[in-house]
Amino acid sequence: MTDSEGLWIRILSEVKKQVNIQTYKTWFEKAKEFSLVNNTLTIEAPTKFFADWLEQHYKSLLEEISYNLTGQNIKIDFIGSSKNKSKPSLKKSIIDFTNYAVLNSRYTFNHFVVGKNNHFAYSAAQAVAEQPGKIYNPFFIYGGFGLGKTHLMQAVGHYVINNKKKKKVLYTSTEDFTNEMISAIQTNTTINFRKKFRTYDVLMIDDIHFLAGKEGSQEEFFHTFNTLYNSKKQIILTSDRRPKEIQDLQKRLISRFEWGLLADIKRPNLETRIAILRQKCEEENIILKDEIIDFIADNFDDNIRQLEGSLIKILAFSSYKNIQTEQIKIDDVKEILSDLMIKQKKTINLDLIQEEVAKYFKIGKNQIKELTRKKEIAIPRQIAMYLSVKLIPHISLLEIAKHYNKKDHSTIIHAKKNILNMLTNDINLKSKIDEIIENINE
Ligand code: ADP
Ligand code: MG
Repeated sequence: MTDSEGLWIRILSEVKKQVNIQTYKTWFEKAKEFSLVNNTLTIEAPTKFFADWLEQHYKSLLEEISYNLTGQNIKIDFIGSSKNKSKPSLKKSIIDFTNYAVLNSRYTFNHFVVGKNNHFAYSAAQAVAEQPGKIYNPFFIYGGFGLGKTHLMQAVGHYVINNKKKKKVLYTSTEDFTNEMISAIQTNTTINFRKKFRTYDVLMIDDIHFLAGKEGSQEEFFHTFNTLYNSKKQIILTSDRRPKEIQDLQKRLISRFEWGLLADIKRPNLETRIAILRQKCEEENIILKDEIIDFIADNFDDNIRQLEGSLIKILAFSSYKNIQTEQIKIDDVKEILSDLMIKQKKTINLDLIQEEVAKYFKIGKNQIKELTRKKEIAIPRQIAMYLSVKLIPHISLLEIAKHYNKKDHSTIIHAKKNILNMLTNDINLKSKIDEIIENINE
């Protein structure tokens, strides 16, 4: 893209990766691009209050993201919505987009609370950051959702960028990495692809378990891995499980992933959860009564994203009601968090995925299982199968097959391949699928 169009949309899609869903929905969903003139991007929020909040809390993050996206200093201003404001009629600025990887500015070692659950991974990450490519290669971090894998991985990236100026760092999701790899395979440019990645000193690939079942990608990844490894580049990977437990992953990749150091992150205990909440409050200048902190820590023990989600909800409450956070009472908190506490019990299962996919495509929940090749049904069904593989931990392909009245797992493999193929050619499909995932998680 060579003009400014869509800058805000691009910024938003980065923001979406960097803040949790609740924050995104509360503060960003209704914010729109008002104008972009002379490198000042003006964002229109629903009210003056929202505009001020965004200004205070997110201006620097947004400016950093837009710098990373465009390579230019873009000033970001916020205004509250008003029907009579007329847009400046000046010509929009011209902006060149380059493809910079964006690290989350919060994901540093300083912001990472160390507890028994992550102590080992944290120390190892620091060692890797000190001497990239030298001691633990690859460095493989694994553990459940929302436990800090991405944060810790990016902390290494920040450290290297800040302390070893000559080193080049790349952070990418497995999805983006494989998409680029697939297009390299399709255009016979895998040599260039490998060369390009060899220019990085530290390559971080997040959620490598998504490589499972993708034969072609694994094949090429194997070579890319070897190229990097042999040139002593630091490889850092994260996964939701240890290499051996990743289904449908080539043995030679499993063994390579185990060459270096495996470090797991477990769920934080009560003490650590309290420490994390305290630190987050401090970072955000929030004062909460101790009993409220204890209440949140007591009730949300699954992952850290829940803790953050709770704080955001409490913040949103204090701003709607226009009261200081220190005045919030524990009974208010119980009320505010009641739906999150119910949600905590909701686990993602085959039924839920079937239902959300059907809802999204406006077809009947059971229609999706019908034996038909009609596109309107067959594509949603394949998406549902694909999402079942992607979102349900430890599920077997056979289990999914049975749910969709299929004899064996080959249908599921086929569905997954087909969707992954479509994803490489159809950008809209990715956003559709992202939206369904969001609905499922809600
Ligand atoms: P994962 O990649 O394991 O799913 P993330 O790294 O995205 O998890 O972490 C989820 C959220 O929890 C992030 O906002 C992150 O900053 C926060 N978080 C995770 N671990 C810690 C920690 N030890 N200290 C402070 N914040 C943490
Ligand atoms: Mg992650």
